[in-house]
Amino acid sequence: MTKKERAAYIARRLKELYPDPPIPLDHRDAFTLLIAVLLSAQCTDARVNQVTPGLFEEADNPADMAELPEERIREIIRSCGLSPQKARAIKRLSQILVEEHDGRVPADMAALEALPGVGHKTASVVMAQAFGEPAFPVDTHIHRLAQRWELTNGKSVAQTEKDLKRLFPKKSWNDLHLQIIYYGREFCPARSCNGLTCEICRYCFPNRKHPKKTRKA
Ligand code: SF4
Repeated sequence: MTKKERAAYIARRLKELYPDPPIPLDHRDAFTLLIAVLLSAQCTDARVNQVTPGLFEEADNPADMAELPEERIREIIRSCGLSPQKARAIKRLSQILVEEHDGRVPADMAALEALPGVGHKTASVVMAQAFGEPAFPVDTHIHRLAQRWELTNGKSVAQTEKDLKRLFPKKSWNDLHLQIIYYGREFCPARSCNGLTCEICRYCFPNRKHPKKTRKA
């Protein structure tokens, strides 16, 4: 089976398993999504979803967030971890949105990446999930699964993104990003491969004898 055939099978199977994958982070618009994604760094989505209602009750738009004291933001988001850095980034990026983007989140990759606390992955998630622009955000889970499915050599997250974009049709990128994450959570945990038992690996690698070793993101 070629890599391309494997990718096509995986895409088909994931679509059957997760036909309409929901966005895991609760949000109401591009700004609340941006904040939720920023908070999700080294934190579970479930925890972020517990914290954001309280934060958005006090400020759910750039202008109000820019006015909220940094200490207050830190207090509310404490349980997400890295709260000093995240609070500083939330406050500063809200000020920049007000000062430079008419108080709106720009639908532009470079402008998003220029915001404090917003890296390539966060910007890609916002482009995909808030604006419906094709993007393939690669987090540590997607990086792991793409290696286990031998769709990339895993040299770097950037290389994995490049390889996945080459293998899958553009229109499927946004759903696939979520579908791979859901599959990883359900069947392919980070700590170890569950012993070559999942159907995707059984079908794609019938002769594989040992769990596939992967490089970290
Ligand atoms: S067999 Fe292992 S590597 Fe393959 S999908 Fe299942 S857990 Fe992941």
